[in-house]
Amino acid sequence: MTLSAPTLPYRTLERQWDVLVAGGGTAGAVAGIAAARSGASVLVIEAFGSLGGTGTNAWVTPLMRNVSGGHNLNRGLTDELKARLIARGDGGIDKGGNDNWFNPEGMKVVLEQMLLESGGEVLYHTHVVAPVMQGQQVSARHVSAQHVSALVVHNKGGLQALPGRVVIDSTGDADVAVAAGAGFHGGDADGIHQAMSLRFTLAGVDTARLCSFLRSQGQGQESPDFMHFWMVWGKGSTLEGLFRQGVEAGVLQERDGDYFQGFSVPGRPGEISFNCPRIRAEYNDGANPWHLTGAQIDGREAVDRLTAFCRAFLPGCESAFVGTYAPMVGVRETRRIVGDYTLTLEDILDCRTFADSICRNHYPVDIHSPRGAKLIHEREGSAPYFAPDAFHEIPYRAILPQQVSNVLVPGRAASSSFEAQSAIRVQQNCHTMGEAAGIAAAWAARDFGGDVRAIDVAVLQAEMRARGGYV
Ligand SMILES: Cc1cc2nc3c(=O)[nH]c(=O)nc-3n(C[C@H](O)[C@H](O)[C@H](O)COP(=O)(O)OP(=O)(O)OC[C@H]3O[C@@H](n4cnc5c(N)ncnc54)[C@H](O)[C@@H]3O)c2cc1C
Repeated sequence: MTLSAPTLPYRTLERQWDVLVAGGGTAGAVAGIAAARSGASVLVIEAFGSLGGTGTNAWVTPLMRNVSGGHNLNRGLTDELKARLIARGDGGIDKGGNDNWFNPEGMKVVLEQMLLESGGEVLYHTHVVAPVMQGQQVSARHVSAQHVSALVVHNKGGLQALPGRVVIDSTGDADVAVAAGAGFHGGDADGIHQAMSLRFTLAGVDTARLCSFLRSQGQGQESPDFMHFWMVWGKGSTLEGLFRQGVEAGVLQERDGDYFQGFSVPGRPGEISFNCPRIRAEYNDGANPWHLTGAQIDGREAVDRLTAFCRAFLPGCESAFVGTYAPMVGVRETRRIVGDYTLTLEDILDCRTFADSICRNHYPVDIHSPRGAKLIHEREGSAPYFAPDAFHEIPYRAILPQQVSNVLVPGRAASSSFEAQSAIRVQQNCHTMGEAAGIAAAWAARDFGGDVRAIDVAVLQAEMRARGGYV
């Protein structure tokens, strides 16, 4: 018997947008706002029912600090986001001037308001399925740079093609760029990706008691409103003895101590957000739906063990309960496009700068390896990068996938080696890459028939500075 696949019809919408943003996550939401503020008609297409991606739906509540010489390196729209979060009580500033902690539920609202106020549109509960390609066959072996003329999406309305002039692929996994023919890499030299984590919160915590207990354990805390505590086997945490007791009592598994980290959350008194559990190594590919499903299940089981541990061993948590299992498993790294430039570890360690820079980074290489308990921070050595006023830059070329002319890929799928990606992937860099991509996309749609390589990057940099950026 011969089986044939059904041909699935889609209808093409009559509208066309200047800029289609595939994935309204950390980079994509900001990209949509920036493009709309540049005068483009913008549609952000998002699989979930809210913006913010990993920052909101995977509950990655702190923006990792990215400071050099006393300056936050990510400004522009990131500054506006923080100010709006603080104004509504969903962000905070600790005594050290750290303004990076936020309430993800507030972040969803702020991003949505900023996008809509800027004239952008959003389509939720919609999955980008495939690009519609147009290109010229130059010879039997060679096709000139192709461009995407529409995105086929799926939602409760069925399959539809949404036409657009420029596409920002901010899916985190380069779904569009790869389907459009762009090359990509994934994982380390053996193809093993960084570990996933399923973040969760504990609500009903007596944070004052927990704070004094942690202080008594030598884990200094600013206040019950600004707490950060951790335990990783063999790293000298004062909580290690308690974890050992938890394992011996059968409450925890050994691997539950591979990475444990808790933060308080602005605007959510009595709630602690956890950057764990780390998912078992066999599920390490966040672009594989079976791994994602396994990760979600494995993560929820581990959350229940950690909750039982906290209730039994951490004073102040006796009556705590799970506030949320993050709806989205936290994926650190999957596909990284092959762009016009690939950022490397050497670029980082040598503090390389670029004439077409769109972002500055001082956050270090930070690999959550699923191979073992070790969190590798390659901070050792005398590389210039480790000076407190050092930084390296990310070139515009790193968000341009080869083989396609009208697609930009800001965010964690930008063109970078495995090591370099682990440094540049933090949220504020995704914002800044997204902001650059948004402005560039709007200009490419308006002036250059969608060609994102026709942009004068010096003018883009000047525009980013005029909007408060630090490039
Ligand atoms: C567990 C964990 C802890 C981390 N800790 C920190 C931290 O403390 N501080 C920090 O700054 N960074 C941290 N990071 C890194 C940072 O959060 C991410 O690298 C960053 O948020 C990724 O942003 P992005 O825009 O590339 O992707 P995302 O924010 O994941 O956005 C992708 C969006 O695209 C949508 N999408 C995907 N595919 C499709 C599709 N086909 N159709 C429609 N929509 C689609 C998704 O729903 C999502 O909204 C952490 C990451 C993880 C996973």
